[in-house]
Amino acid sequence: MLEQDIKKVLVSEEQIHEKAVELGKILQNDYKNTTPLILGILRGSVPFMAELIKHIDGELEIDFMTVSSYHGGTKSSGEVKLIMDVDTAINGRDILIVEDIIDTGRTLKYLKELLEHRGARVKIVTLLDKPEGRVVEIEPDYTGFTIPNEFVVGFGLDYDEHYRNLPYVGVLKEEVYKK
Ligand code: 5GP
Ligand code: MG
Ligand code: MG
Repeated sequence: MLEQDIKKVLVSEEQIHEKAVELGKILQNDYKNTTPLILGILRGSVPFMAELIKHIDGELEIDFMTVSSYHGGTKSSGEVKLIMDVDTAINGRDILIVEDIIDTGRTLKYLKELLEHRGARVKIVTLLDKPEGRVVEIEPDYTGFTIPNEFVVGFGLDYDEHYRNLPYVGVLKEEVYKK
């Protein structure tokens, strides 16, 4: 069972649910005069996005993008690569990017600039924020939970594509990395 690999739970299923209700109400109000495009960043944002949009009682559309951090040579260059683009016209639209976590901030800085360049008004909601990891200047507009600088899994977040289906966010046991 997946749970055996978890050292500690950082954010419980119940806490995530309550936060989604709270953020949903705020977003519903902030976007009441427009039809936002809720843009999930694949693949980690899927559970959070599904939870969040249920609690926004108003007009909205959804779409997805896939990006990846580009690793060239021996170390990560910090470059971000666009893997799959949106399928929606975005000029003049209000876009809410939904992310699982912000660490260095590179992914979101890249995405925000790309979408703004195309004429969208862009805001960011993230389930988790690790502010200690930041190397570029970018802040989310809405944050679920601020967490310490630890590698976490669950509720969409993976280790080597595993653990995305855990219903909570937790820290892996050290021995799992050594397997
Ligand atoms: P950033 O570009 O802000 O450094 O990183 C964003 C991406 O890195 C996230 O969308 C996520 O895929 C990955 N990431 C950053 N921190 C963690 C973490 O603690 N756990 C997992 N599973 N992924 C992380
Ligand atoms: Mg992500
Ligand atoms: Mg990942």
